[in-house]
Amino acid sequence: MTALDFTYDQLAAHVIFGAGAFDKLEAEAARLKCEKLLVLSTPGQQALAEAAAKRLGRRCAGIHAKAVMHVPVEVAAAACAEAQRLNADGAVAIGGGSTIGLGKAIALETGRPIIAVPTTYAGSEMTPIYGLTEAGAKKTGRDPRVLPKSVIYDPLLTVNLPPSVSGPSGMNAVAHCVEALYAENANPVISLLAEQGIAALAKSLPRIMRQPRDVNARAQALYGAWLAGTALGSVGMALHHKLCHTLGGSFNLPHAETHTIVLPHAVAYNAAAAPEAMARIAQALGAASAAAGLFDLAAALGAKPALRDIGMREADLDTAAELACRNPYYNPRPVEQPAIRALLDDAYHGRRPR
Ligand code: NAD
Repeated sequence: MTALDFTYDQLAAHVIFGAGAFDKLEAEAARLKCEKLLVLSTPGQQALAEAAAKRLGRRCAGIHAKAVMHVPVEVAAAACAEAQRLNADGAVAIGGGSTIGLGKAIALETGRPIIAVPTTYAGSEMTPIYGLTEAGAKKTGRDPRVLPKSVIYDPLLTVNLPPSVSGPSGMNAVAHCVEALYAENANPVISLLAEQGIAALAKSLPRIMRQPRDVNARAQALYGAWLAGTALGSVGMALHHKLCHTLGGSFNLPHAETHTIVLPHAVAYNAAAAPEAMARIAQALGAASAAAGLFDLAAALGAKPALRDIGMREADLDTAAELACRNPYYNPRPVEQPAIRALLDDAYHGRRPR
């Protein structure tokens, strides 16, 4: 049994969860004393932004449906300028991690509150972590100002998320839980949330593949995503997140799909160095082994199994291994370049972890 010795920070976010919770948006704005909120979304989710504007009524300052993946600095600057032009006293970010990331960029610049209404399972809404991309390089940081003041989780908003997006997005959330269990600053409270998050996602995601409009399954997955985001925001990340940041940032691979493919291999790499975490992951998955269980879950979701399927070039694997070993994050097993190169080879070919 591990000795109890830890530090725990509680993140202060107000969370409203449940089917129909979206209807409480105006009441949340009033609670935060916001009179003029700018509604943010991606161009594809304009209809959701309009639904948010309708619920806000006179508290809506306008709609800015221009969020894109990884928050380019020009996109962040344009959103800040629009918030300023409209004299907005806060923002509603409705959508996935890309839209919530744009809301965080406004909060970082202006200090104004954000209400997040997540519609994917990425978990950004529960973290004080922001990312900004300049000249192709993504920089991340932590700042308590970017943590949304209020988060509305409504599973009804997720029933139209296509299964092909839901599966990888859910695996992205599973990855947050997995790495929380062996984080440098892991603590017993967050480990409980992480274990529960894996179990909720592992049960609900296969049901969502069969019945995308099953509201109970959607609620379970969103609940798992909330726990995952809380875990990510509270404790550190390790090798898996470093690999995904490298592959996404330097080789432009899609975010959630990269997480889905790399996770079983990063877990296999760490298996012997974090046996207690592995046992808890396997138990939460209902599998004999953590790494194989994660691989099988991704396969059950119909996810692409190999980096070569999502645009990685074999010729870039050496560079990827080298970049992933530069400024490594904490990891339970030392990060060694030849072993990381072998891990990437397994992920490139989509081999089942041993
Ligand atoms: P995303 O926000 O880009 O959404 C993926 C796609 O799904 C988009 O085209 C979007 O318009 C669409 N979509 C979203 N909700 C939908 C719905 N309900 N129905 C139909 N379509 C919908 O992708 P993501 O995976 O949610 O977020 C990825 C981004 O978030 C990355 O930039 C990543 O780095 C960041 N992220 C940040 C944190 C953090 O803590 N800062 C955590 C996780 C992810």
